[in-house]
This record gives sequence, structure tokens and C-alpha cells, in this order.
Amino acid sequence: MAGQQAEQTIHVGGEWRAALSGATREILDPADAEPFAVVAEGDEKDADLAVAAARRAFDEGPWPHTPVTERAALLRRVADLLVRDREELGLLESRDAGKTLEEGRVDIDCVADAFRYFADLVVGEGGGRVVDAGSSDVHSVVVHEPVGVCALITPWNYPLLQASWKIAPALAAGNTFVVKPSEITPLTTVALLGLLAEAGLPAGVAGLVTGPGHTVGARLAEHPDVDLVSFTGGLASGTKVARAAADTVKKVALELGGKNPNVVFADACATGEGFDTAVDQALNAAFIHSGQVCSAGSRLIVEESLRERFVAELARRANAIRLGRGTEDGVECGPLVSEQQRAKTEAYVAAALAEGAVLRAGGKRPEPSGVRPATGYFYEPTVLDQCHRGMRVVREEVFGPVLTVETFATEDEAVALANDTEYGLAGAVWTADAGRARRVAGRLRHGTVWINDFHPYLPQAEWGGFGRSGVGRELGPAGLAEYQETKHVYQNLAPKPVRWFAG
Ligand code: NAD
Repeated sequence: MAGQQAEQTIHVGGEWRAALSGATREILDPADAEPFAVVAEGDEKDADLAVAAARRAFDEGPWPHTPVTERAALLRRVADLLVRDREELGLLESRDAGKTLEEGRVDIDCVADAFRYFADLVVGEGGGRVVDAGSSDVHSVVVHEPVGVCALITPWNYPLLQASWKIAPALAAGNTFVVKPSEITPLTTVALLGLLAEAGLPAGVAGLVTGPGHTVGARLAEHPDVDLVSFTGGLASGTKVARAAADTVKKVALELGGKNPNVVFADACATGEGFDTAVDQALNAAFIHSGQVCSAGSRLIVEESLRERFVAELARRANAIRLGRGTEDGVECGPLVSEQQRAKTEAYVAAALAEGAVLRAGGKRPEPSGVRPATGYFYEPTVLDQCHRGMRVVREEVFGPVLTVETFATEDEAVALANDTEYGLAGAVWTADAGRARRVAGRLRHGTVWINDFHPYLPQAEWGGFGRSGVGRELGPAGLAEYQETKHVYQNLAPKPVRWFAG
């Protein structure tokens, strides 16, 4: 990126450029609302240019036909470069998305893991699956090929991590792509495109257009020369993407929101250690990254007999969370990403209180302090007790630091509550009873189920949602398959006439 001007954040055909319109956007640090970077504000025309370059690179370039081992070697080089730049990228992610520096660093480690995982996976696939055609005169094999030009649209909460779950498998499979990061957190994706070039990716294979969803994103989703669109974001935008993609019958993958239950049985808290762990993890489930996590455990569903003890301790610890600028030592939780996100959170809390929820912690903006500028988008971790399914705050994704509490008396009731959502991304069950753990896990209609844990994911295990949490899967073998076409090659080694027609 040497010589690249600050606002040249659009990458087309191996070149960095400004928006065709010349428009730019300031990127704000959510901890103080001050601009700290400027990027190109692309539009539909920039998207068209990027798709044309990616199309050429796919139709004429070497990448789709590059041997798998070479593609994998490039992915591994990218992982090494990510490790080299971990500190710089972690800091950028922290400032851009408002997360703590440590979270930013962990994100970069996970990004490098994704590149390594897909490198190993694609090599391990081998050269296709030979099928027994029932005749020694026939050689029949099923092979995987790249889909083509992929449009990759990503959200602001885990900017580089979400991008890597798409970019790594897309490249491993031999595709070319245009990525559109969230307009409010594009910086690490811009940096990654530089690393791909440094690792030796041929020009044109990777494209990037910074800009808004309703222009750049919408154009990519409908573009006739795009073969696949993979989208991570909210339900409303995801629905628009699916509609826009329908006319050209693209492959569509959607990773959408969640309203994720954390079910706690009293037996999980029979010992002091069990209680401490379940409370600690409920706190982490709901409040890490200020709750701006698709799989946030934002619905605590706790056995009635345990409720008061559990919620009292949870509220005490929520009140003690140290909020501040993510780059400051000792800060445990950063601000929300934008004023809009905070206003949305405040509206949900106000509506819940009006509907009868009882405030046990938070519920307001914190006092400014040395680590919390008054202009930052901070909001206190909030616990709302006495909630029920009729409340919007229980049904809809807040995407902020808000935990609702519901209770149950029986196992059936717990399962019914946990499944009573239009989403189905993730959920957890806490119990000391192994049989109950397996029973409940088996009945939960969610793409990931944790037993006595919350939040871990593995690159080798599929991630995705039931219901309106999405279509398709990322990570794991299915996360590579999204980016592959399957072709059956049937070779007759001894061709003869079939004589169907007498002729
Ligand atoms: P968003 O839907 O507002 O935006 C996501 C991306 O889509 C952005 O790049 C945006 O510019 C673009 N976009 C917006 N409208 C578009 C349109 N009409 N056509 C094409 N692109 C469009 O979501 P967000 O606020 O950035 O992210 C938060 C959401 O993402 C939450 O709902 C969260 O649950 C979800 N999410 C899901 C996962 C998952 O793995 N399932 C992971 C992270 C985030």
C-alpha cells in the first residue's frame, strides 16, 4: 500500500483508488466520537468496476486453476502476515469497533486460525470422489470447482473475523471476490487486502469497495456477474439481499441475527464453584463487546428456585464491569459502536420498563471519567428482571448490553421458552445432570448449543443459524462447500452406440 492516499481504500484489479465520485467518509472512534481515519465512500459505479475486475480475474486469470497446494500455501502466508501485524491490526480493530485491545488481538488470532484451517481443509479434500458406476468401462468422479465471483458483505461487530470466514474459504476454493465491509468499521479489511497482495495473490482476485449497504451492498447482491453472495448482518438487510439476489439465481448464504437463550438449571449451581462459574459465564455471554455479538446470551432463562440468588449476584457483577476506552489498561468493556446503536438500546430498555420489566443493573449512560470521554457511546451493562415473551426486548435482537431474565419450573418449560424465538443461532444449557444436558441440547432449535459453557466456537465446526438466523453455514467443511460447485465427470472408456433409436 506504499504511496496509497488515506482515502484510496477501494481495491480494484490490484490497484488502490478513491471513489469515482470523490466522496469520502470519516471513521469515528466510538470511545470519543472523534474521526481518526478517512475512507472512500464508494457507490454502485465503484461496485460495477470491482465486479468487472473480479469477473476478468475469474474467467481469464490463473487463480481458479492454481493447484490447491499453492492456494493453501498462500493462505498460510497470509496467516503468518496476520501474526506479524497482530498488534497493529488488533489496535485498529479496537479503535474502529470500540472493543478492548485484548479482544482486538484475540480477533486477529482467530482470523489467522481461519486462514490456516481452510488451507488444511482444502488440501485434505484430495482430487475428487470416485463413484462406482457399475461398469469397469466407466470412470466417474465428483469434483469441486470454484463458484465464480463472490460478493462478501460483512458487519461492524467483528469486522475482520467475519470477513475472514468468507475470504479464506472463497480463496481456498479458487474463487475471486469483492468484499464490502461495514461502512462504519472498514479499516482492518482494507489492511487485509494489502496483506493478500503482499502474500502474492494475483491482481484482480481480491476486490474491495468501501461504502454504504444500500448502494454498494445492494448493487453487489443484484449484480448479474456475481455468482454468489455471502452476507453477515441483520435480518432486515439480509432479507433485502436475498430478494436482490433472487432475480439472477445466485447462491446465497446468510448469517443473520440471534436472540440467544442461556438456560440455567438450579442443579448447575448446587456448589459454590458451580454457582460462580454459571454467573460469570452468564455475564460474559451477555456483555462481552457490550452485547454486540450475534450469539450474545441476551436471554437468561433461569430455574425459578434459583432466580433471586442468581440475578442478585449477576447484577452486582454487571454493575462492577469497568467501562471505558478499549485501549486503556484495566478496561473490561468498550462503548457501543455508534450513537444510533446506543439510541436503539435505550429505546428497548425504556419500552421494557414501561411493559413491567424490573431494572436490576445499569439502565443508563455511565458518568464520564478519565477513561470514558463524555462524547463516547457508552451504556451501562443492564439487567432486566421479570421479563416475559410478550416484551419486544425479549423477542427482538437489541445488540447492546441488555440481559433479560425469564424463569421456568420444569425442563419442558425451559426448552419451550428457549425455542420460542424466530431466530435460532445459538443457545446454552447449564446443568450438573448429564442426561438432562443431552436431552435439552437435543431439543434446542439452534445452530450451536453449548453445554456448561457459552461462546466458544471452533473453525472446524460449522457456524450458522436455524430459522431466521440464516441460510447456510460458515466454518467447518460446510463453510468451504458454500464456495464450491459440485461437478460430476462421467467418462466412458469404451463408447458404443446405445441404439435407442433404430435409425
Ligand atoms: P447490517 O445488516 O446493518 O449491515 C451488515 C452489512 O450489510 C453492512 O456491510 C451493510 O453496509 C450492508 N448492508 C446494509 N443494507 C444492505 C442492503 N440493502 N444490501 C446489501 N448490503 C447491505 O448489520 P450490522 O448492524 O452491520 O451488524 C449487526 C448484525 O449482524 C446483527 O444483527 C448481528 O446479529 C449480525 N451478525 C451475525 C453474525 C452471524 O454469524 N450470524 C455475525 C456477526 C453479526
